[in-house]
Amino acid sequence: MSIDVVIAGAGPNGLMLACELALAGVRPIVLERLPERTTENRANGLVGQVVRMLDRRGLYERLGGDESPRPTPRYMFGALPLNLGPLGADNPLHLLPVPQLRIEQVLEERAVELGVEIRRGHELTGLQQDEDAVVVDVSGPGGAYRLRARYLVGADGGRSVTRKLSGIGFPGVTRDETISRTASVSVPPELVDPTTGGLNVPGYGLIPLNMHHRTERGGIFAFASFPPRSPLVTTLEWEPDRTDDGSAPELTLDEMRESIRRVLGVDVPLGPPDGPGPHLLRRVVGGNTRLAARFRDRHVLLVGDAAHVHSALGGPGLNLGLQDAINLGWKLAAEIHGWAPPGLLDSYETERRPAAERVVMHTQAQSALIAPGSEVTALRELFAELLRDRRNVRHIADMMSGADIRYAPGSADAHPLVGRWAPDLLLETEKGTVRLAELTRTARPLLLDMTPDGSLTEAVSGRHDRVDAIAARPRPTTAPSDSPSALLLRPDCYVAWASASPYPDERERDGLRTAMAGWFGAAHSMA
Ligand SMILES: Cc1cc2nc3c(=O)[nH]c(=O)nc-3n(C[C@H](O)[C@H](O)[C@H](O)COP(=O)(O)OP(=O)(O)OC[C@H]3O[C@@H](n4cnc5c(N)ncnc54)[C@H](O)[C@@H]3O)c2cc1C
Repeated sequence: MSIDVVIAGAGPNGLMLACELALAGVRPIVLERLPERTTENRANGLVGQVVRMLDRRGLYERLGGDESPRPTPRYMFGALPLNLGPLGADNPLHLLPVPQLRIEQVLEERAVELGVEIRRGHELTGLQQDEDAVVVDVSGPGGAYRLRARYLVGADGGRSVTRKLSGIGFPGVTRDETISRTASVSVPPELVDPTTGGLNVPGYGLIPLNMHHRTERGGIFAFASFPPRSPLVTTLEWEPDRTDDGSAPELTLDEMRESIRRVLGVDVPLGPPDGPGPHLLRRVVGGNTRLAARFRDRHVLLVGDAAHVHSALGGPGLNLGLQDAINLGWKLAAEIHGWAPPGLLDSYETERRPAAERVVMHTQAQSALIAPGSEVTALRELFAELLRDRRNVRHIADMMSGADIRYAPGSADAHPLVGRWAPDLLLETEKGTVRLAELTRTARPLLLDMTPDGSLTEAVSGRHDRVDAIAARPRPTTAPSDSPSALLLRPDCYVAWASASPYPDERERDGLRTAMAGWFGAAHSMA
């Protein structure tokens, strides 16, 4: 069999997985149904830990980020403002405003650089599995053909053909009483607040920039600006008695204006967009919240929207999906290279399903908080009171960023960082001062030995083909007081083992050897 992995779908998550596999020495074939990259933008930005994760792959600057990610002082939850400034150094929430079209372009360029073959205009139409492999039916520009691969990953979005053909259920709920409308527009410059960038709506007041705004008339309005693109206006309305069948013609600016009038009760003088395109006129009826019954069926795995769909409120989709891909990539590569310890590939679902469940939970909670009705208004008042407490803000920020994720925590006396995503560190190495994010770009497991004598690096012997070891000193200014003296990092930057002692004793060294074997397989014999 010549093909290790076929990925169905060159959306952001399929492309991210392709990059991760290629970094790990596996060259997947990516099948993409569309002959050209789409011009319809969905996400306007990345929210959460994924921003820092992309920095740890060298993609943050390519996506328009400057220097290194910094947490945002403000965000929102269920159209309530989230004041994150008081969290200071504990603030885990990072934003990167970048259109999904650009994310897909950057990931595609990176995948091609790494040698990935992307077949555009090739659609997965069928699949069968046998004991050793999956056979994929493809319809391409030159006709139908078949591929036999060890694994197929469905990254083919919420309506995933891979998921359906594999017989994997997609339980959840469909709501059809909402209509959301989004349009690229121009607004008279005098209506834009010079200090905040918000929109001063005559007869209504100031609408904050890039925030959902719930009105007492029972709707949501948002004014968003991501220069140099034209501003976007969005409304969300509840129409439980709607009778249309969803086949209405494309959204017009007039329809957008009428919707805004219903939501705000006043007119907003909108014009057609005058910034660079592509411009958006989108109407979305209803929405789904669903989670695949399984993320794996033998040789078939699901990532991203193929595995879970939910409301886009707060923009959690790519924080979840891209980190699915990063979690899966190295595990699948380990399986293909033959060094994966038993159960490693199944840990993809064990680890990522709870992350998806959490997003399903908080997007549903946010949907409840923005709905119309006086009971909801009362609930929001209570919620707003709770959000005056720093601990609650921290709780929500941890949840939205994914900082509350703790995978396998290890034994009861394990270091508190085990199972957590590794903190940012500034390190002195023999090659100079570097950020941890600069050491993780190869996506290889990494033993970071910060003990005074650097004696732990020998633990890598017999696994040099797959694990790197670096002796380093943390810069005291960046090191927290409970700073570890050594960290074993998985390629997705989660901590597999850590020690706090400058001179780890034999018991701790045993723990390191166990973690090394548990995550990165048996060592080659030295004989
Ligand atoms: C309106 C809206 C706004 C959003 N805003 C945000 C946001 O601000 N932040 C955020 O993080 N997320 C946001 N999201 C969510 C985000 O867009 C999705 O989570 C993301 O697109 C999922 O990526 P994916 O690669 O899993 O699937 P998709 O992007 O759906 O890509 C799937 C790909 O598979 C291809 N394909 C499908 N079937 C086949 C087949 N049979 N064979 C081959 N190829 C196939 C498709 O053509 C497509 O290119 C938003 C979503 C929506 C709808």
